[in-house]
Amino acid sequence: MRALRIMRRPPQCVQKKVFSLTSFHDFRLNNAITRALAEEKYLAPTPIQAQTIPTVMAGRDVIGIAQTGTGKTAAFALPILHHLAAYARPVPRKSCRVLVLSPTRELSGQIRDRFRTYGRHLRVRTALAIGGVSMGSQVRALLGGVDVLVATPGRLIDLVRGNALRLDGIECFVLDEADRMLDMGFIEDVGKIVAKLPAVRQTLMFSATMPRAIEQFAASMLRDPVRVAVAPPASTAERIRQRLIRVERAAKPGVLIELLRRETVDRGLIFTRTKRGADKVVRGLVRAGIAADAIHGNKSQNQRERVLAAFRKGATRILVATDIAARGIDVDGISHVINFDVPNVPETYVHRIGRTARAGADGTAISLCDREELAFVRDIERLIRMSITANEAGAATHGHEPLGANTRSLRPAAATPAKRTRQRPGGAARKRDHSTETTAAMASVAFMRRHVPARDTAAIELGPIAPPKETAHG
Ligand code: AMP
Repeated sequence: MRALRIMRRPPQCVQKKVFSLTSFHDFRLNNAITRALAEEKYLAPTPIQAQTIPTVMAGRDVIGIAQTGTGKTAAFALPILHHLAAYARPVPRKSCRVLVLSPTRELSGQIRDRFRTYGRHLRVRTALAIGGVSMGSQVRALLGGVDVLVATPGRLIDLVRGNALRLDGIECFVLDEADRMLDMGFIEDVGKIVAKLPAVRQTLMFSATMPRAIEQFAASMLRDPVRVAVAPPASTAERIRQRLIRVERAAKPGVLIELLRRETVDRGLIFTRTKRGADKVVRGLVRAGIAADAIHGNKSQNQRERVLAAFRKGATRILVATDIAARGIDVDGISHVINFDVPNVPETYVHRIGRTARAGADGTAISLCDREELAFVRDIERLIRMSITANEAGAATHGHEPLGANTRSLRPAAATPAKRTRQRPGGAARKRDHSTETTAAMASVAFMRRHVPARDTAAIELGPIAPPKETAHG
């Protein structure tokens, strides 16, 4: 596969809403779009936009390595809107011209809002197809055909099965957050959807990280893609101050409370591994007089939207989330990300801390690490190629260390691979379920090979499968 590589470092310390590359006028986007951008006070394209917009306008497939917060939504939405305006045509009933797939309801809603914002001076019909809400209104919205449909995979498949939507008229397909799709077990659904798309189409795929399974997935789905990236696949935002606090598991709730009292937390996002864990943390904080809310997969869509809106407005200062629920949270001004649990998948750490220090702002990421989680930290350090050094002095077996004592150091992380088996204090091994995850990843790739017409089969090979992913709790 011939792929033109355009790799640049991410911008360091850019001011919010000010990015210093080319001007949007250089792209010769439709005037109605540049007007909307001016109204949004977007002065210049972000790096991912500078690379992606002309490439998409030239009709090429794109594989974009970029995290949320880099401006990647506009990177694909702007050239798509331009195309829709330049080649306006009636859309057949129950059909759409552009399909954007995203892993979560929240993210889908945000993407759809952006299309509306950037396309507000154009006649572009958009629709949203997400689970958790009734299908009736979505079926009605699709009846007359739409230009842009933003959807989560499950609901999209339901609509197609129910004959409410046909996918054979799609000109452009966007797969956002592909690595999360894999994490959340959606990749088979995505494969089924891709199999129904016309062979002649433009495909844009974005992913924050590029594990092997996603590379293989991309190879089956994209035609001679241009690769654009604003950061190496697993790099951590360098502006983020990362700290680690060694603490006994039982002491974590107390440490968290103390931390929230001591630190100036404008807006804090706390991650737990499980939904129950999130609720428990919220209960503990509320008992301590700290207002907090939880967002996770057991909450109804309405609850999730209400909680998110309150967090965005600043009415709720502390939000406790599971990884999956947090994935779609696009909130600027998160000053702190706190890992109540250290994730056992290193890429998840990168996703989590990327929620802060967005749009050029500063941010702090603090991880509460118990003894069992130390090995996860080593894996993370290896991935981000820096050490989040704990203050080892007196590293707690009871209680915890003085807060604020630990700041990141830049010593290179150890080069030896981490052991995958974790010792519990009692001696029992906590083993990552490699076999299941690997089998799932291999099944996904095998599925893609069976169901998706290979566009560049030479690039597909079953090498070592990506590192295991944690199971979906959100
Ligand atoms: P995204 O990565 O698409 O979620 O975008 C992150 C944030 O950056 C959103 O709040 C966007 O409104 C904002 N943004 C995107 N592009 C630009 C730009 N060129 N100038 C200023 N802000 C932007």
